[in-house]
Parts: sequence; C-alpha cells; structure tokens
Amino acid sequence: MKHLKFSLLFLMCMLAAVPVSAKKKTKVIAHRGYWKTEGSAQNSIRSLERANEIKVYGSEFDVHLTADNVPVVFHDNKIQGKNIQTTPYAELKDLKLPNGETLPTLEQYLDKAKTLKKTKLIFELKSHATPQRDREAAKIVTEMVNGKKLTKRTEYIAFSLEAAKELHRLSPKTPVYYLNGDLSPKQLKELGFTGLDYYYKVMQKHPEWFAEAKDLKLKINVWTVDDPKVMKEMIENQVDFLTTDYPEEAQKAVYLHR
Ligand code: MG
Repeated sequence: MKHLKFSLLFLMCMLAAVPVSAKKKTKVIAHRGYWKTEGSAQNSIRSLERANEIKVYGSEFDVHLTADNVPVVFHDNKIQGKNIQTTPYAELKDLKLPNGETLPTLEQYLDKAKTLKKTKLIFELKSHATPQRDREAAKIVTEMVNGKKLTKRTEYIAFSLEAAKELHRLSPKTPVYYLNGDLSPKQLKELGFTGLDYYYKVMQKHPEWFAEAKDLKLKINVWTVDDPKVMKEMIENQVDFLTTDYPEEAQKAVYLHR
C-alpha cells in the first residue's frame, strides 16, 4: 500500500512536470551561416563550419544555378557585377568572397557538410527567371543532395511557390518551407509543406497565424531576427525556429527564456 501511494505520488509529480519539460524550445538557425565572426563571410564554407562549431540547429545558405547549370552558394543575384544565373561557371569560378574563399559550388559546400555531421542544412533555392528554370534548379539540387546522402539533414526553403512545390514533389520526405509571406497556414497545409518561414513583420501583422499554424501542426520559422526585443517576442510566441545573423545571442535568449 505504501508502495502504491508512493507510485501515485511519483506519477502525479511526473504529470505536473510535463507541461514545463514539454514547453517548446525555439531552435536557432544561422542566417547565411555564422558569418559575423572572424575569418567568415556570408555563405562561405567557413560560415558553415562556424555554425557547426557553435552547435546551432541549422545553417542557412542560398543557391543559384549558373547559366550552365552549376549550383553555386551565394546570396545576391550578382557577384562582382556578374549575374550568376546568366553567366557560365567558368567565368565565376575564381571569384573570391570577402574572407578570401573562392565562390563555393554546392558540391564543395555539401562535401564539407558531410564532414561536419550535425548542423542541419537549411537550403534556400533562390528564384530563377522562369517557372521552368525553377523546376530545373529543383531537380538538379535534389539529385545532388540525395546523391551525397544528405537528404535527411536538409530542409528546403524557397520564395518561389513553383520551386517550393517542385522541391516537395521531388523530395517528399524532406521538410519544405515557403518564404514569401503571402499564404495562410491553411493554404500551406493544403500544399503539403512542413511550415512557414516568414519575415517576422509578416507574423507581427498576422498574429493569429501563430495559433493557426500550431493547430495545423505546421512549423514556424521567422527571419531575419537580429533585434533582441524581437527575438524575445518570437521566442515567447514559441516559434519553432529563429533565423538570425546573431546566432550566439539568439542561443542565449532561448536559454534565458526557459
Ligand atoms: Mg537566404
């Protein structure tokens, strides 16, 4: 009897503890890698290594196809005056990033990721000139990610609805998030996406989307949250992911909120 009483007491304590331990903890994603740190640069291979070193959940990066279908990792449409998507790779391959690295190809980037093991690859496929080009880009990059056996560590994000749909069709088990901020959680659910990855001001404008997404079991990511006040606000709203240029500060903010 005494034993039973103790067991019941133990069970009650456990149940009481559940809401606290089950409280959703926001995960941090380094925007364009961890680049605001010595020797790094946006979308450099070093930025991926640094993101891995500080143990963030994921490292975000941007991919364009060159005119001759080589996927390269870079944010802007142009690098040193050359439009990536209309220039052959041979004319881009020797260009340097601000930290002295050469413009990385997706293949080089993924090969480095394979040696780092943990950090999730938050893969932004940039919009291309036509829906057909978006679909071609989705095909080329999903084949490369699958070929490197990195499918389970990858999550795709895209502004182009065409690209997001095609990424989901080609890699149905890989999470796909839509970036453009113009679709409701219900619409995203119908498209089969994993969640939304919206500019934080979109979520401030549609605060009802936090609960709507949660009810639909969609995940929420917000970008690019660099202001400590907004970090706190988004963590309090229990976003699943927070994408930021200040990943170490965001990790501290998440820790303090526990
Ligand atoms: Mg991006």
